[in-house]
Amino acid sequence: MEHILHLKCLICGREYQPDEVAYVCPEHGNEGILDVVYDYGRIAPHISPASLAANRETSIWRYKPLLPVAPDTAVPPLAVGWTPLYKVDRLAIELGLAYVWVKDDGRNPTASFKDRASAMAVVKAREVSGNQVSGDQVSSVESPHHLVTLSPHHPIITTASTGNAAAALAGLCASVGQPNVIFVPASAPQAKVAQLLAFGSTVMLVDGTYDDAFDLCLQAAAEFGWYNRNTGYNPYMTEGKKTVSYEIAEQLGWQAPDVVFVSVGDGCIIGGVHKGFKDLLALGWIDRMPRLIGVQAAGSNYLAEAWAKGEDVLTKPPIKAETVADSISAGLPRDRLKAMTAVTQTNGAFITVTDEEILAAIPALAQGSGVFAEPAGAAAYAGLVKAAHEGLVQPTDQIVVINTGSGLKDVAAAMKAVQGVGVRPYLIQPKLTNVKEILKTLIL
Ligand SMILES: *Cc1c(COP(=O)(O)O)cnc(C)c1O
Ligand SMILES: [Zn+2]
Repeated sequence: MEHILHLKCLICGREYQPDEVAYVCPEHGNEGILDVVYDYGRIAPHISPASLAANRETSIWRYKPLLPVAPDTAVPPLAVGWTPLYKVDRLAIELGLAYVWVKDDGRNPTASFKDRASAMAVVKAREVSGNQVSGDQVSSVESPHHLVTLSPHHPIITTASTGNAAAALAGLCASVGQPNVIFVPASAPQAKVAQLLAFGSTVMLVDGTYDDAFDLCLQAAAEFGWYNRNTGYNPYMTEGKKTVSYEIAEQLGWQAPDVVFVSVGDGCIIGGVHKGFKDLLALGWIDRMPRLIGVQAAGSNYLAEAWAKGEDVLTKPPIKAETVADSISAGLPRDRLKAMTAVTQTNGAFITVTDEEILAAIPALAQGSGVFAEPAGAAAYAGLVKAAHEGLVQPTDQIVVINTGSGLKDVAAAMKAVQGVGVRPYLIQPKLTNVKEILKTLIL
């Protein structure tokens, strides 16, 4: 893959060839997260806004020359990415803003943003095992580059997750018959656990936090030689996640927005968003970097606190994380270096929102746009609401809010959210007079 120059340690700057290291900088262990550095001169001849305009692939793989995969690499068949970007004028007006879009990543195959990274994990795991599917084994006419067969020699893939990364890995693995072992906290929402079981994953429900599940998963991967998808550990997860920025820019006509709001747990998504826009700037396809606003839950505010106080995230100890937004509950954000860089280098900010604000944002976003978000997705919108009230964004800013997960992921939280704003159903007998009585009290 000559379009990759090297993998660079975020701490010491040491450079490694992709086949020299497995996941992290050997000098810095689990903290030594690597960034994939590209040779844009070698990429540019293979992809351009014009070539993309003619490209009918509607998944993250339309950007293949910008991804850490070889041109002939087979990819899983699930349609990941190319999610809709909705202009939401009613919400914008309510907030005194002119241009607001919602990027709905709840529309991915397993209903969260994490599919972007897990699709990459499945491809990279097969590369490690040296067992790619060759073109002539592929039967699908429409998608000649999709993976269809399973060799028994593929390593098991593993991840720890608050739920969505797990569901994403489970679904992407199921699409190609790839065995996998998943570690999630026993407190994960039922819908996410149901997905794991339905997809046939081996599920370890850990009696502990996400942070406990993460540490256990790292140990198990090392012990059993499994391929490790973990967020803030495997350098290629950022590369899958960065595709959201390509899509936003392309959907806006190769323009970068002024501001992007994204919720932050481990910090891998915001790091990926940053990487995507950096790639496009390096290629000259956009002319400015948006300000990236990381939104954290008040009860899981490691990065927001470190940013506000100017603390060093390499030495800041873990905090106790607790929030209704399970997907952004992280006591020690694993991708904190990339996340902090994303905010500081773009002149962005970290802001926090309370659980009440997150829950209130679920019906507000749903009623104002038709997009139903899980708490962590709605948190990004709650962040915009707060930023608009505090004057952190300008009335004419072009603003994108990323919804990272579907509301169906956590129905219990959604029910709590609607009760919180006094929305309730009317329990009636199956009689028209009942309906009439209720209608008398309403203005529709
Ligand atoms: C994982 C996740 C996030 C946060 O992403 P990080 O990379 O952990 O910061 C936000 N929302 C949803 C729905 C997620 O699943
Ligand atoms: Zn290092």
